[in-house]
Amino acid sequence: MFERVEETTKRLLITDILTHFFRRVIDKAPQDLLHCVYLCINRLAPQYDGLELGIGESLLIKAIAQATGRTNAKVKSDVARLGDMGLVAKSRSNQKTMMGSRQLKVSYVFTALKQIATASGTKSTTTKVDKIKSLLATCQNNEAKYLMRSLEGKLRIGLAEQTVLIALAHAFALNSLTKRLSEETLAEVLKDATATVKTVYSELPSHNVLIPALLEGGIQNLHATCKLTAGIPVKPMLAHPTKAISEVLDRFEGQLFTCEYKYDGERAQIHRLDNGQITIFSRNSENMTAKYPDLAEKLLRAVNPQTKSFILDCEAVAWDKSQQKILPFQILSTRKRKDVKEEDIKVAVCIFAFDLLYLNGRSLLRESLVQRRAKLLDAFQTVDGDFQFAKAVVATEVETIQTFLDESIRDNCEGLMVKTLDGEEATYEPSKRSRNWLKVKKDYIMGIGDSLDLVVVGAYLGRGKRTGVYGGYLLACYNPDSEQYETICKIGTGFSEADLESHYSEFKDLIISQPRSYYSFGDSAKPDVWFNAKVVWEVKAADLSISPVYKAGIGKVDNNRGISLRFPRFIRIRDDKSAEDATSSDQVAEMYQSQKLNTANGAASDDDD
Ligand code: ATP
Repeated sequence: MFERVEETTKRLLITDILTHFFRRVIDKAPQDLLHCVYLCINRLAPQYDGLELGIGESLLIKAIAQATGRTNAKVKSDVARLGDMGLVAKSRSNQKTMMGSRQLKVSYVFTALKQIATASGTKSTTTKVDKIKSLLATCQNNEAKYLMRSLEGKLRIGLAEQTVLIALAHAFALNSLTKRLSEETLAEVLKDATATVKTVYSELPSHNVLIPALLEGGIQNLHATCKLTAGIPVKPMLAHPTKAISEVLDRFEGQLFTCEYKYDGERAQIHRLDNGQITIFSRNSENMTAKYPDLAEKLLRAVNPQTKSFILDCEAVAWDKSQQKILPFQILSTRKRKDVKEEDIKVAVCIFAFDLLYLNGRSLLRESLVQRRAKLLDAFQTVDGDFQFAKAVVATEVETIQTFLDESIRDNCEGLMVKTLDGEEATYEPSKRSRNWLKVKKDYIMGIGDSLDLVVVGAYLGRGKRTGVYGGYLLACYNPDSEQYETICKIGTGFSEADLESHYSEFKDLIISQPRSYYSFGDSAKPDVWFNAKVVWEVKAADLSISPVYKAGIGKVDNNRGISLRFPRFIRIRDDKSAEDATSSDQVAEMYQSQKLNTANGAASDDDD
């Protein structure tokens, strides 16, 4: 199945191949479905579990060397030549396997991968190498290639998580049909099934729960059996950028909406179970409870007695206790990330709550913001400097919004979040970058609307004053459809001396000998060193332009040329985003289009000051 998927880039064909495969598994080996899904998405557990594949290159080289009787150096040079660990492992396993006709089974591979990922202690390297060796010994044909890529955490054959969800929905819907349907009705059934599976998964992102529920009750019972659950992070709702207050007013014409401060800290989704246990998740659904040992106690003082279980959406913001005011994000970023002891905390944090998604065992996702806000205000109380509600106004005039925006900037916020308040369009939409939430950032009014979060894929050696460190870096956006990182610009501005030093040493561990097969770049922008796509930087730019050199959004606004950033400037590291959460090619194309529109409209100037 992997081979067939890899042969094509056609999304519909990939979905069909996968649907067909899942249908057979559901029929013939339903007990293997969960493991099949995890192998397809190259994971071992839900994202929030933190259990990652991503075995380092040197360990894999060692395992291949031992399994195939080559030296480490030879395997290493083969990897440099072929640019793909999977191909190097495969080149030796085409021959008859040592185990003769023994075949690898899905559940065996999954269990072995899990054992490799969880092995710890002094002998863990040997355990891992041995396990990989024994898997390689049983591999046939292309299996070694996919096994190696899976171990690296880089399967990348086009099985994006969304495609897997669609194929699952199609497979279950088709397997449950009892009669022939017209083409039109069938399309409708598949569309509904997909919407159900996607919604349920965005509220409860755990295949461990979803797959057994689908096997047990099919799609029709899914909403009843899989619900938002305290303790399992929901993918947060996101906002659309805007460039002018007039754009906000156009969008929300005739609707009731509210403006809130856009706090500049770290998003925190705080869960409390019935038993009182508190877990804090990041924007990326990572468990960061240990990073904020001080938050739980602050929160307890703000919780009203009738409030038991809840899921709170909020921003953790650095707080100046003596002056009783918000501090900029740069101060928050100096807090330690790991093994934080309460007594060592130097930067105090205040929680600014803006939404309530779940209360006392009930999901509030489908309630409107007015209703959710009323419940939020009822469930908690303000404790100055520890827990506050996001400052908000209901405004309909440009002048009032402008004044509130200015006030937010004076109070060290990033700008405003503008949200629909009432009706169908005011529900909480997990994982969506919704037009029902708009962000207005002061700096970007009339600029390009927003900063970009880009992946660092390479660097250029520094010269002159920058000798000994990197002088510039190559950045890329992410295209989730093709699973490629598309280069967008070279950046050399915005770095302090200290930044240059620390980036230089931090990128050491990410150097790779060749660009990955999934990097899309032009020959004239090749960097001196390539990096594993891992680090995300927030970057501001003057504007976007069409470029023959860079590849971002290629084919979206111009058939042969990509989009590039002009005058990019480094702002900060976004360690709450993984490489795949970087600004997407579609977003880049959208920004380019809206900039063009703006210029064509003579850059409306009423909101700029
Ligand atoms: P960025 O934070 O750079 O704007 P993002 O991709 O992380 O981008 P967006 O959806 O673009 O997220 O902006 C929303 C973010 O703003 C939220 O993730 C949250 O961290 C923060 N935020 C601050 N104040 C609010 C608020 N009142 N309502 C919602 N989000 C807020």
